[in-house]
Amino acid sequence: MDYLSGGGLATARISDLAMSPPQNGTMLCAPLVAESVEEMLHQIKAAKASGADVVELRVDYINSFQPGVDLPRLIEGRVLPVIITYRPNWEGGLYEGDEAARVAALSLAIELQADFIDVELQVAEDFIASQSSKRSSSSTRIIVSNHNYHTTPSSEEIGRLVARMQATGADIIKFVTTANNVVDSANVFRVLAHTQLSLKVPTIALVMGQKGLISRLLSPKFGGFLTFGTLSSGKESAPGQPTLTDLVRTYRLREMDCDTRVYGIIGNPVGHSKGPYLHNPAFEAIGYNAVYLPFLVDNLAEFLSVYSAPDFGGFSVTIPFKEDALKCCDEVESSAKAIGAVNTIIRRADGKFVGYNTDCEAAISAIEDGVRESGYHGSQPLSGKLCVVIGAGGAGKALAFGAKHRGARVVIANRNFERAKVLAESVGAEAISLETLSSFQPETGMILANSTSVGMQPNVQDTPIPKAALKGYSVVFDAVYTPLETRLLREAKESGAVVVSGLEMFIRQAIGQFELFTGQPAPKSVMREIVAKMAP
Ligand code: NAP
Repeated sequence: MDYLSGGGLATARISDLAMSPPQNGTMLCAPLVAESVEEMLHQIKAAKASGADVVELRVDYINSFQPGVDLPRLIEGRVLPVIITYRPNWEGGLYEGDEAARVAALSLAIELQADFIDVELQVAEDFIASQSSKRSSSSTRIIVSNHNYHTTPSSEEIGRLVARMQATGADIIKFVTTANNVVDSANVFRVLAHTQLSLKVPTIALVMGQKGLISRLLSPKFGGFLTFGTLSSGKESAPGQPTLTDLVRTYRLREMDCDTRVYGIIGNPVGHSKGPYLHNPAFEAIGYNAVYLPFLVDNLAEFLSVYSAPDFGGFSVTIPFKEDALKCCDEVESSAKAIGAVNTIIRRADGKFVGYNTDCEAAISAIEDGVRESGYHGSQPLSGKLCVVIGAGGAGKALAFGAKHRGARVVIANRNFERAKVLAESVGAEAISLETLSSFQPETGMILANSTSVGMQPNVQDTPIPKAALKGYSVVFDAVYTPLETRLLREAKESGAVVVSGLEMFIRQAIGQFELFTGQPAPKSVMREIVAKMAP
Protein backbone atom coordinates (compact mmCIF):
# COMPACT_ATOMS: atom_id res chain seq x y z
CA MET A 1 0.00 0.00 0.00
CA ASP A 2 1.38 3.36 -0.98
CA TYR A 3 0.63 5.51 2.01
CA LEU A 4 2.04 8.61 0.35
CA SER A 5 -0.88 8.63 -2.04
CA GLY A 6 -3.25 9.44 0.81
CA GLY A 7 -5.26 7.47 3.27
CA GLY A 8 -8.47 7.25 5.17
CA LEU A 9 -9.70 10.25 7.02
CA ALA A 10 -9.45 10.82 10.71
CA THR A 11 -12.54 9.94 12.61
CA ALA A 12 -12.39 13.34 14.22
CA ARG A 13 -15.32 14.27 16.37
CA ILE A 14 -15.65 17.82 17.41
CA SER A 15 -17.48 19.22 20.32
CA ASP A 16 -20.82 20.87 19.77
CA LEU A 17 -19.13 24.19 20.44
CA ALA A 18 -17.57 24.09 16.98
CA MET A 19 -19.25 26.31 14.40
CA SER A 20 -19.22 23.89 11.49
CA PRO A 21 -17.48 20.53 11.27
CA PRO A 22 -14.59 20.52 8.80
CA GLN A 23 -15.56 18.46 5.74
CA ASN A 24 -12.34 16.46 5.67
CA GLY A 25 -12.37 15.67 9.40
CA THR A 26 -9.14 17.53 10.13
CA MET A 27 -9.57 20.38 12.58
CA LEU A 28 -7.63 23.61 12.43
CA CYS A 29 -6.23 24.34 15.87
CA ALA A 30 -4.85 27.69 17.01
CA PRO A 31 -2.09 27.29 19.62
CA LEU A 32 -2.50 30.12 22.14
CA VAL A 33 0.54 31.27 24.11
CA ALA A 34 -0.81 34.32 25.99
CA GLU A 35 0.77 35.39 29.27
CA SER A 36 -2.54 36.17 31.03
CA VAL A 37 -6.00 34.60 31.26
CA GLU A 38 -7.60 37.81 29.92
CA GLU A 39 -5.34 37.79 26.89
CA MET A 40 -5.99 34.09 26.30
CA LEU A 41 -9.77 34.58 26.45
CA HIS A 42 -9.36 37.42 23.97
CA GLN A 43 -7.23 35.19 21.71
CA ILE A 44 -9.86 32.40 21.78
CA LYS A 45 -12.35 34.86 20.28
CA ALA A 46 -9.79 35.98 17.71
CA ALA A 47 -9.09 32.34 16.80
CA LYS A 48 -12.78 31.73 16.27
CA ALA A 49 -13.00 34.79 14.03
CA SER A 50 -9.98 33.53 12.04
CA GLY A 51 -11.64 30.19 11.34
CA ALA A 52 -10.12 27.88 14.00
CA ASP A 53 -12.15 24.82 15.02
CA VAL A 54 -10.35 24.32 18.30
CA VAL A 55 -7.75 26.13 20.41
CA GLU A 56 -4.85 24.71 22.37
CA LEU A 57 -4.44 26.71 25.57
CA ARG A 58 -0.80 26.52 26.55
CA VAL A 59 -1.42 27.34 30.19
CA ASP A 60 2.28 26.89 30.94
CA TYR A 61 2.73 30.29 29.19
CA ILE A 62 0.40 32.10 31.64
CA ASN A 63 2.31 34.06 34.26
CA SER A 64 1.60 32.92 37.85
CA PHE A 65 -0.98 30.42 36.60
CA GLN A 66 -3.43 29.37 39.35
CA PRO A 67 -5.28 26.28 38.13
CA GLY A 68 -8.11 26.50 40.70
CA VAL A 69 -8.97 30.06 39.63
CA ASP A 70 -7.79 30.26 36.03
CA LEU A 71 -8.95 26.92 34.59
CA PRO A 72 -12.66 27.50 35.39
CA ARG A 73 -12.43 30.94 33.74
CA LEU A 74 -10.75 29.57 30.65
CA ILE A 75 -12.92 26.49 30.25
CA GLU A 76 -16.26 28.01 31.18
CA GLY A 77 -15.61 31.20 29.17
CA ARG A 78 -14.60 29.44 25.97
CA VAL A 79 -16.30 30.01 22.64
CA LEU A 80 -14.47 27.15 20.91
CA PRO A 81 -13.48 23.64 22.02
CA VAL A 82 -10.28 23.77 24.07
CA ILE A 83 -7.26 21.57 24.52
CA ILE A 84 -5.64 22.21 27.90
CA THR A 85 -1.90 21.73 27.68
CA TYR A 86 0.30 22.31 30.72
CA ARG A 87 3.62 21.44 29.14
CA PRO A 88 6.52 20.75 31.54
CA ASN A 89 10.09 21.77 30.97
CA TRP A 90 11.18 18.19 30.38
CA GLU A 91 8.90 17.98 27.30
CA GLY A 92 9.82 21.39 25.85
CA GLY A 93 7.27 23.49 27.78
CA LEU A 94 7.60 26.36 30.27
CA TYR A 95 6.27 24.69 33.45
CA GLU A 96 9.06 24.11 35.94
CA GLY A 97 7.12 23.38 39.12
CA ASP A 98 6.03 20.34 41.07
CA GLU A 99 4.78 17.43 38.95
CA ALA A 100 1.98 16.53 41.35
CA ALA A 101 0.55 20.06 41.07
CA ARG A 102 0.69 19.87 37.28
CA VAL A 103 -1.09 16.50 37.21
CA ALA A 104 -3.71 17.84 39.64
CA ALA A 105 -4.37 20.74 37.26
CA LEU A 106 -4.94 18.32 34.35
CA SER A 107 -7.25 16.27 36.56
CA LEU A 108 -9.20 19.44 37.39
CA ALA A 109 -9.52 20.19 33.67
CA ILE A 110 -11.25 16.81 33.27
CA GLU A 111 -13.65 17.65 36.09
CA LEU A 112 -14.38 20.99 34.41
CA GLN A 113 -15.23 19.14 31.17
CA ALA A 114 -12.43 20.58 29.08
CA ASP A 115 -12.90 19.21 25.55
CA PHE A 116 -9.40 17.77 25.43
CA ILE A 117 -6.37 17.60 27.68
CA ASP A 118 -2.84 16.87 26.49
CA VAL A 119 -0.80 14.43 28.58
CA GLU A 120 2.81 13.58 27.80
CA LEU A 121 3.55 9.91 27.00
CA GLN A 122 6.07 9.71 29.84
CA VAL A 123 3.31 10.13 32.45
CA ALA A 124 0.26 9.09 30.43
CA GLU A 125 -0.19 5.52 31.61
CA ASP A 126 -0.24 6.39 35.32
CA PHE A 127 -2.31 9.52 34.73
CA ILE A 128 -4.97 7.74 32.67
CA ALA A 129 -5.17 4.89 35.18
CA SER A 130 -5.66 7.43 37.99
CA GLN A 131 -8.52 9.14 36.17
CA SER A 132 -10.70 6.12 35.41
CA SER A 133 -13.51 7.10 37.80
CA LYS A 134 -13.56 10.75 36.68
CA ARG A 135 -13.46 9.91 32.98
CA SER A 136 -16.72 7.98 33.09
CA SER A 137 -18.59 11.15 33.98
CA SER A 138 -16.53 13.50 31.79
CA SER A 139 -16.61 14.13 28.06
CA THR A 140 -12.94 15.17 28.09
CA ARG A 141 -10.81 13.27 25.58
CA ILE A 142 -7.20 12.61 26.39
CA ILE A 143 -4.48 13.36 23.84
CA VAL A 144 -1.29 11.48 24.63
CA SER A 145 1.63 13.36 23.15
CA ASN A 146 5.30 12.87 22.42
CA HIS A 147 7.77 15.43 21.08
CA ASN A 148 11.13 14.77 19.49
CA TYR A 149 13.00 18.09 19.26
CA HIS A 150 16.03 16.70 17.46
CA THR A 151 15.10 14.41 14.62
CA THR A 152 12.46 12.35 12.81
CA PRO A 153 12.90 8.64 13.41
CA SER A 154 12.15 6.00 10.76
CA SER A 155 8.54 5.02 10.10
CA GLU A 156 9.20 1.72 11.91
CA GLU A 157 10.43 3.50 15.03
CA ILE A 158 7.52 5.92 14.96
CA GLY A 159 5.21 2.92 14.50
CA ARG A 160 6.58 1.38 17.73
CA LEU A 161 6.10 4.71 19.51
CA VAL A 162 2.50 4.84 18.30
CA ALA A 163 1.85 1.35 19.71
CA ARG A 164 3.16 2.48 23.10
CA MET A 165 1.00 5.59 22.98
CA GLN A 166 -2.08 3.61 22.05
CA ALA A 167 -1.47 1.16 24.89
CA THR A 168 -1.85 3.97 27.45
CA GLY A 169 -5.58 4.18 26.71
CA ALA A 170 -5.27 7.46 24.79
CA ASP A 171 -8.33 8.76 22.95
CA ILE A 172 -6.06 10.60 20.51
CA ILE A 173 -2.36 10.22 19.92
CA LYS A 174 -0.02 13.02 18.98
CA PHE A 175 3.56 12.61 17.84
CA VAL A 176 5.66 15.54 16.79
CA THR A 177 9.16 15.20 15.38
CA THR A 178 11.76 17.59 13.98
CA ALA A 179 12.62 17.92 10.29
CA ASN A 180 16.26 17.99 9.27
CA ASN A 181 15.23 17.20 5.71
CA VAL A 182 12.04 17.69 3.69
CA VAL A 183 11.80 13.92 3.21
CA ASP A 184 11.34 13.44 6.99
CA SER A 185 7.65 14.30 6.61
CA ALA A 186 7.24 11.19 4.43
CA ASN A 187 7.99 8.95 7.47
CA VAL A 188 5.25 10.72 9.36
CA PHE A 189 2.74 10.55 6.47
CA ARG A 190 3.26 6.78 6.22
CA VAL A 191 2.54 6.26 9.91
CA LEU A 192 -0.37 8.70 9.87
CA ALA A 193 -1.99 6.91 6.94
CA HIS A 194 -1.46 3.60 8.77
CA THR A 195 -3.01 4.84 12.02
CA GLN A 196 -6.06 5.93 10.04
CA LEU A 197 -6.47 2.92 7.77
CA SER A 198 -5.50 0.07 10.08
CA LEU A 199 -5.53 1.25 13.67
CA LYS A 200 -8.40 3.72 13.29
CA VAL A 201 -6.97 5.86 16.10
CA PRO A 202 -7.32 9.63 15.75
CA THR A 203 -3.79 10.93 15.31
CA ILE A 204 -2.02 14.26 15.27
CA ALA A 205 1.25 13.82 13.38
CA LEU A 206 3.42 16.83 12.65
CA VAL A 207 7.02 17.67 11.90
CA MET A 208 8.52 20.84 13.35
CA GLY A 209 10.75 23.30 11.51
CA GLN A 210 10.70 24.94 8.10
CA LYS A 211 11.53 21.65 6.37
CA GLY A 212 8.54 20.03 8.07
CA LEU A 213 6.01 22.61 6.89
CA ILE A 214 4.47 20.19 4.39
CA SER A 215 3.47 17.85 7.24
CA ARG A 216 1.28 20.65 8.57
CA LEU A 217 -0.10 21.62 5.16
CA LEU A 218 -0.93 18.06 4.03
CA SER A 219 -2.40 16.89 7.33
CA PRO A 220 -5.99 16.65 5.93
CA LYS A 221 -4.80 14.64 2.93
CA PHE A 222 -3.36 11.94 5.19
CA GLY A 223 -6.19 12.08 7.73
CA GLY A 224 -4.62 14.04 10.61
CA PHE A 225 -6.93 14.75 13.55
CA LEU A 226 -5.81 18.37 13.59
CA THR A 227 -3.13 20.72 12.35
CA PHE A 228 -1.96 23.94 13.95
CA GLY A 229 -2.33 27.45 12.53
CA THR A 230 -1.27 30.52 14.48
CA LEU A 231 -3.26 33.73 14.88
CA SER A 232 -0.39 35.63 13.29
CA SER A 233 3.27 35.05 12.59
CA GLY A 234 5.30 35.41 15.78
CA LYS A 235 2.62 33.58 17.84
CA GLU A 236 3.99 30.07 17.25
CA SER A 237 4.07 27.48 20.03
CA ALA A 238 6.41 25.30 17.95
CA PRO A 239 8.82 26.03 15.07
CA GLY A 240 7.36 26.04 11.56
CA GLN A 241 3.68 26.65 12.33
CA PRO A 242 1.91 28.51 9.50
CA THR A 243 -0.83 31.06 10.17
CA LEU A 244 -4.52 30.14 10.19
CA THR A 245 -5.02 32.54 7.30
CA ASP A 246 -2.45 30.64 5.22
CA LEU A 247 -4.08 27.31 6.07
CA VAL A 248 -7.57 28.49 5.18
CA ARG A 249 -7.00 30.97 2.36
CA THR A 250 -3.72 30.10 0.69
CA TYR A 251 -3.56 26.32 1.06
CA ARG A 252 -7.35 25.76 1.31
CA LEU A 253 -7.08 23.00 3.90
CA ARG A 254 -10.87 23.00 4.29
CA GLU A 255 -11.24 21.70 0.74
CA MET A 256 -8.37 19.19 0.90
CA ASP A 257 -9.12 15.47 0.91
CA CYS A 258 -7.25 12.24 0.29
CA ASP A 259 -7.56 12.74 -3.49
CA THR A 260 -6.00 16.22 -3.49
CA ARG A 261 -3.08 16.28 -5.92
CA VAL A 262 0.14 17.85 -4.66
CA TYR A 263 2.30 20.32 -6.61
CA GLY A 264 4.86 22.79 -5.40
CA ILE A 265 8.03 24.73 -5.82
CA ILE A 266 11.36 23.04 -5.12
CA GLY A 267 14.10 25.44 -4.11
CA ASN A 268 16.54 26.45 -1.40
CA PRO A 269 15.66 29.00 -0.12
CA VAL A 270 12.01 28.86 -1.04
CA GLY A 271 10.17 30.72 1.72
CA HIS A 272 9.97 33.92 -0.36
CA SER A 273 8.28 32.19 -3.32
CA LYS A 274 5.10 33.76 -4.59
CA GLY A 275 4.12 30.48 -6.31
CA PRO A 276 1.67 29.28 -3.62
CA TYR A 277 -0.15 32.63 -3.72
CA LEU A 278 -0.56 32.31 -7.50
CA HIS A 279 -1.12 28.60 -8.21
CA ASN A 280 -3.48 27.80 -5.32
CA PRO A 281 -6.12 30.40 -6.29
CA ALA A 282 -5.65 29.36 -9.93
CA PHE A 283 -6.43 25.71 -9.01
CA GLU A 284 -9.48 26.97 -7.15
CA ALA A 285 -10.59 29.07 -10.13
CA ILE A 286 -10.81 26.02 -12.42
CA GLY A 287 -12.14 23.67 -9.71
CA TYR A 288 -9.00 21.49 -9.77
CA ASN A 289 -8.51 19.47 -6.57
CA ALA A 290 -4.87 20.28 -5.93
CA VAL A 291 -2.56 22.19 -3.61
CA TYR A 292 0.73 23.96 -4.35
CA LEU A 293 3.34 23.97 -1.55
CA PRO A 294 6.84 25.32 -0.92
CA PHE A 295 9.37 22.45 -0.71
CA LEU A 296 12.62 23.44 1.02
CA VAL A 297 14.87 20.80 -0.53
CA ASP A 298 18.53 19.84 0.03
CA ASN A 299 18.86 17.03 -2.47
CA LEU A 300 16.62 16.99 -5.54
CA ALA A 301 17.20 13.33 -6.52
CA GLU A 302 16.36 12.16 -3.00
CA PHE A 303 13.26 14.36 -2.90
CA LEU A 304 11.94 12.95 -6.19
CA SER A 305 12.61 9.37 -5.15
CA VAL A 306 10.73 9.78 -1.86
CA TYR A 307 7.76 11.82 -3.13
CA SER A 308 7.21 9.65 -6.18
CA ALA A 309 3.62 8.60 -5.49
CA PRO A 310 1.06 9.42 -8.22
CA ASP A 311 -0.58 12.11 -6.08
CA PHE A 312 2.59 14.21 -6.26
CA GLY A 313 1.90 15.50 -9.75
CA GLY A 314 4.56 18.04 -10.56
CA PHE A 315 6.95 20.70 -9.40
CA SER A 316 8.27 24.11 -10.25
CA VAL A 317 12.04 24.22 -9.89
CA THR A 318 14.02 27.25 -8.81
CA ILE A 319 17.52 28.19 -7.63
CA PRO A 320 19.73 26.17 -7.15
CA PHE A 321 18.13 23.11 -8.79
CA LYS A 322 17.39 24.08 -12.42
CA GLU A 323 20.50 22.32 -13.73
CA ASP A 324 20.23 19.35 -11.33
CA ALA A 325 16.67 18.87 -12.53
CA LEU A 326 17.98 18.20 -16.02
CA LYS A 327 19.87 15.17 -14.69
CA CYS A 328 17.13 13.95 -12.34
CA CYS A 329 14.37 13.71 -14.95
CA ASP A 330 13.76 10.52 -16.91
CA GLU A 331 13.04 12.58 -20.00
CA VAL A 332 13.70 16.22 -20.85
CA GLU A 333 11.80 18.16 -23.49
CA SER A 334 14.10 19.25 -26.34
CA SER A 335 14.19 23.01 -25.70
CA ALA A 336 14.89 22.49 -21.96
CA LYS A 337 17.71 20.16 -22.96
CA ALA A 338 19.13 22.72 -25.39
CA ILE A 339 18.91 25.50 -22.78
CA GLY A 340 20.43 23.25 -20.13
CA ALA A 341 17.86 24.07 -17.47
CA VAL A 342 14.54 22.60 -16.30
CA ASN A 343 12.11 24.81 -14.38
CA THR A 344 9.14 22.42 -14.42
CA ILE A 345 8.96 18.70 -13.62
CA ILE A 346 5.85 16.69 -14.40
CA ARG A 347 5.20 13.21 -13.07
CA ARG A 348 3.66 11.41 -16.01
CA ALA A 349 0.98 8.70 -15.59
CA ASP A 350 3.63 6.02 -16.17
CA GLY A 351 5.58 7.38 -13.17
CA LYS A 352 8.36 8.96 -15.25
CA PHE A 353 9.55 12.49 -14.44
CA VAL A 354 9.61 14.76 -17.49
CA GLY A 355 11.45 18.10 -17.48
CA TYR A 356 10.35 21.30 -19.24
CA ASN A 357 11.48 24.91 -19.42
CA THR A 358 8.68 27.47 -19.42
CA ASP A 359 11.05 30.42 -18.76
CA CYS A 360 12.20 30.55 -22.37
CA GLU A 361 8.80 30.73 -24.08
CA ALA A 362 7.60 33.15 -21.36
CA ALA A 363 10.42 35.66 -21.94
CA ILE A 364 10.50 35.34 -25.73
CA SER A 365 6.74 35.64 -26.22
CA ALA A 366 6.71 38.72 -23.95
CA ILE A 367 9.50 40.31 -26.02
CA GLU A 368 7.68 39.42 -29.25
CA ASP A 369 4.60 41.25 -27.95
CA GLY A 370 6.89 44.22 -27.25
CA VAL A 371 8.11 44.14 -30.86
CA ARG A 372 4.50 44.09 -32.09
CA GLU A 373 3.76 47.06 -29.82
CA SER A 374 6.67 48.88 -31.45
CA GLY A 375 4.88 48.65 -34.81
CA TYR A 376 5.74 45.22 -36.27
CA HIS A 377 2.80 43.45 -37.96
CA GLY A 378 4.24 40.19 -39.32
CA SER A 379 4.22 36.68 -37.87
CA GLN A 380 7.91 36.44 -36.88
CA PRO A 381 8.70 39.46 -34.72
CA LEU A 382 12.27 38.41 -33.90
CA SER A 383 13.30 37.11 -37.29
CA GLY A 384 16.41 38.91 -38.56
CA LYS A 385 16.46 41.32 -35.58
CA LEU A 386 19.66 41.94 -33.65
CA CYS A 387 19.00 40.83 -30.08
CA VAL A 388 21.51 41.67 -27.35
CA VAL A 389 21.27 39.49 -24.25
CA ILE A 390 23.07 40.75 -21.14
CA GLY A 391 23.93 37.83 -18.86
CA ALA A 392 24.87 34.21 -19.40
CA GLY A 393 23.29 32.50 -16.39
CA GLY A 394 20.09 30.44 -16.36
CA ALA A 395 17.81 33.22 -17.65
CA GLY A 396 20.47 34.34 -20.15
CA LYS A 397 20.68 30.84 -21.63
CA ALA A 398 16.88 30.65 -22.03
CA LEU A 399 16.78 34.09 -23.69
CA ALA A 400 19.72 33.46 -26.02
CA PHE A 401 18.41 30.04 -27.05
CA GLY A 402 14.84 31.33 -27.53
CA ALA A 403 15.83 34.42 -29.54
CA LYS A 404 18.10 32.36 -31.78
CA HIS A 405 15.38 29.77 -32.26
CA ARG A 406 12.98 32.49 -33.38
CA GLY A 407 15.42 33.71 -36.03
CA ALA A 408 17.16 36.61 -34.28
CA ARG A 409 20.85 37.42 -34.65
CA VAL A 410 22.04 37.09 -31.04
CA VAL A 411 24.83 38.92 -29.23
CA ILE A 412 25.71 37.99 -25.64
CA ALA A 413 27.38 40.38 -23.20
CA ASN A 414 28.41 39.15 -19.80
CA ARG A 415 30.59 40.26 -16.90
CA ASN A 416 32.44 36.96 -17.08
CA PHE A 417 33.41 37.10 -20.73
CA GLU A 418 34.47 33.42 -20.87
CA ARG A 419 30.92 32.45 -19.88
CA ALA A 420 29.53 34.71 -22.63
CA LYS A 421 31.79 32.99 -25.16
CA VAL A 422 30.73 29.48 -24.10
CA LEU A 423 27.05 30.39 -24.36
CA ALA A 424 27.54 32.20 -27.67
CA GLU A 425 29.26 29.16 -29.11
CA SER A 426 26.53 26.80 -27.95
CA VAL A 427 23.67 28.81 -29.48
CA GLY A 428 25.48 30.21 -32.52
CA ALA A 429 25.78 33.79 -31.28
CA GLU A 430 28.47 36.46 -30.90
CA ALA A 431 30.02 37.33 -27.53
CA ILE A 432 31.05 40.84 -26.50
CA SER A 433 32.35 42.24 -23.22
CA LEU A 434 30.28 44.47 -20.95
CA GLU A 435 32.69 47.35 -21.76
CA THR A 436 32.04 46.94 -25.49
CA LEU A 437 28.30 46.98 -24.81
CA SER A 438 28.56 50.66 -23.74
CA SER A 439 29.51 51.69 -27.27
CA PHE A 440 27.77 48.89 -29.20
CA GLN A 441 25.49 50.57 -31.73
CA PRO A 442 25.93 48.75 -35.07
CA GLU A 443 22.35 49.50 -36.16
CA THR A 444 19.00 50.84 -34.95
CA GLY A 445 15.87 48.89 -34.10
CA MET A 446 17.77 46.39 -31.91
CA ILE A 447 16.29 44.41 -29.00
CA LEU A 448 17.93 44.43 -25.56
CA ALA A 449 17.23 41.76 -22.90
CA ASN A 450 18.79 42.05 -19.45
CA SER A 451 19.04 38.68 -17.74
CA THR A 452 21.42 39.68 -14.95
CA SER A 453 20.31 40.61 -11.46
CA VAL A 454 21.73 44.11 -11.87
CA GLY A 455 19.15 46.73 -10.81
CA MET A 456 17.27 44.33 -8.55
CA GLN A 457 16.22 45.48 -5.08
CA PRO A 458 17.93 46.72 -3.00
CA ASN A 459 20.39 47.94 -5.66
CA VAL A 460 17.74 49.85 -7.61
CA GLN A 461 20.20 52.57 -8.67
CA ASP A 462 22.25 50.08 -10.70
CA THR A 463 21.80 49.45 -14.40
CA PRO A 464 23.66 47.03 -16.69
CA ILE A 465 24.11 49.57 -19.53
CA PRO A 466 24.56 53.38 -19.63
CA LYS A 467 21.54 55.36 -20.81
CA ALA A 468 23.51 56.83 -23.72
CA ALA A 469 24.01 53.32 -25.12
CA LEU A 470 20.26 52.67 -25.30
CA LYS A 471 19.68 54.78 -28.41
CA GLY A 472 19.88 51.88 -30.86
CA TYR A 473 17.22 49.77 -29.16
CA SER A 474 13.52 49.83 -30.02
CA VAL A 475 12.48 47.17 -27.45
CA VAL A 476 14.05 46.66 -24.02
CA PHE A 477 13.23 43.74 -21.71
CA ASP A 478 14.40 43.33 -18.10
CA ALA A 479 14.10 39.92 -16.38
CA VAL A 480 14.32 41.74 -13.03
CA TYR A 481 10.86 42.64 -11.69
CA THR A 482 11.64 43.90 -8.22
CA PRO A 483 11.21 46.85 -8.66
CA LEU A 484 8.58 46.66 -11.36
CA GLU A 485 10.17 49.56 -13.21
CA THR A 486 13.92 49.11 -13.01
CA ARG A 487 16.32 51.92 -13.77
CA LEU A 488 17.05 50.19 -17.09
CA LEU A 489 13.36 50.21 -18.08
CA ARG A 490 12.87 53.80 -16.94
CA GLU A 491 15.84 55.02 -18.99
CA ALA A 492 14.83 52.87 -21.99
CA LYS A 493 11.35 54.42 -21.90
CA GLU A 494 12.92 57.90 -21.74
CA SER A 495 15.01 56.94 -24.78
CA GLY A 496 11.85 56.07 -26.72
CA ALA A 497 11.97 52.25 -26.54
CA VAL A 498 9.01 49.96 -25.88
CA VAL A 499 9.70 48.34 -22.52
CA VAL A 500 8.77 44.82 -21.37
CA SER A 501 8.73 44.05 -17.66
CA GLY A 502 10.14 40.91 -16.02
CA LEU A 503 6.74 40.51 -14.38
CA GLU A 504 5.39 39.58 -17.82
CA MET A 505 7.95 36.75 -17.98
CA PHE A 506 7.05 35.69 -14.43
CA ILE A 507 3.33 35.45 -15.14
CA ARG A 508 3.81 33.69 -18.48
CA GLN A 509 6.19 31.04 -17.08
CA ALA A 510 3.68 30.38 -14.29
CA ILE A 511 0.82 30.05 -16.80
CA GLY A 512 2.97 27.58 -18.77
CA GLN A 513 3.61 25.55 -15.62
CA PHE A 514 -0.03 25.59 -14.61
CA GLU A 515 -1.07 24.19 -17.99
CA LEU A 516 1.57 21.44 -17.75
CA PHE A 517 0.38 20.59 -14.22
CA THR A 518 -3.32 20.43 -14.97
CA GLY A 519 -3.50 19.72 -18.71
CA GLN A 520 -6.13 22.48 -18.81
CA PRO A 521 -6.09 26.10 -19.97
CA ALA A 522 -4.89 28.39 -17.17
CA PRO A 523 -7.33 30.97 -15.78
CA LYS A 524 -5.15 33.73 -17.22
CA SER A 525 -7.20 36.70 -16.12
CA VAL A 526 -7.36 35.38 -12.53
CA MET A 527 -3.60 34.81 -12.52
CA ARG A 528 -2.90 38.23 -14.00
CA GLU A 529 -5.14 39.87 -11.42
CA ILE A 530 -3.29 38.11 -8.58
CA VAL A 531 0.12 39.03 -9.96
CA ALA A 532 -0.97 42.65 -10.41
CA LYS A 533 -1.96 42.75 -6.72
CA MET A 534 1.36 41.17 -5.70
CA ALA A 535 3.41 43.57 -7.81
CA PRO A 536 6.09 45.23 -5.72
P1 NAP B 1 22.20 33.22 -12.55
O1 NAP B 1 22.14 31.94 -13.30
O2 NAP B 1 22.85 33.24 -11.22
O3 NAP B 1 22.96 34.28 -13.50
C1 NAP B 1 23.25 35.58 -13.04
C2 NAP B 1 23.74 36.44 -14.18
O4 NAP B 1 23.84 37.78 -13.70
C3 NAP B 1 25.14 36.06 -14.68
O5 NAP B 1 25.22 36.33 -16.05
C4 NAP B 1 26.03 37.00 -13.87
O6 NAP B 1 27.24 37.29 -14.51
C5 NAP B 1 25.19 38.25 -13.88
N1 NAP B 1 25.50 39.17 -12.79
C6 NAP B 1 25.24 38.97 -11.47
N2 NAP B 1 25.66 40.05 -10.77
C7 NAP B 1 26.22 40.91 -11.67
C8 NAP B 1 26.82 42.19 -11.56
N3 NAP B 1 26.94 42.80 -10.38
N4 NAP B 1 27.26 42.79 -12.69
C9 NAP B 1 27.13 42.21 -13.89
N5 NAP B 1 26.57 40.97 -14.05
C10 NAP B 1 26.12 40.34 -12.96
O7 NAP B 1 20.75 33.83 -12.33
P2 NAP B 1 19.45 33.68 -13.28
O8 NAP B 1 18.61 32.55 -12.82
O9 NAP B 1 19.89 33.74 -14.69
O10 NAP B 1 18.66 35.02 -12.90
C11 NAP B 1 19.14 36.28 -13.33
C12 NAP B 1 18.10 37.34 -13.05
O11 NAP B 1 16.92 37.05 -13.78
C13 NAP B 1 17.68 37.42 -11.59
O12 NAP B 1 17.52 38.75 -11.23
C14 NAP B 1 16.35 36.70 -11.56
O13 NAP B 1 15.52 37.19 -10.53
C15 NAP B 1 15.80 37.06 -12.91
N6 NAP B 1 14.82 36.08 -13.38
C16 NAP B 1 13.56 36.53 -13.63
C17 NAP B 1 12.60 35.65 -14.07
C18 NAP B 1 11.21 36.17 -14.35
O14 NAP B 1 10.26 35.36 -14.37
N7 NAP B 1 11.08 37.45 -14.58
C19 NAP B 1 12.90 34.29 -14.26
C20 NAP B 1 14.22 33.86 -14.03
C21 NAP B 1 15.17 34.78 -13.58
P3 NAP B 1 28.58 36.38 -14.27
O15 NAP B 1 28.43 35.21 -15.22
O16 NAP B 1 29.67 37.28 -14.63
O17 NAP B 1 28.56 35.99 -12.85
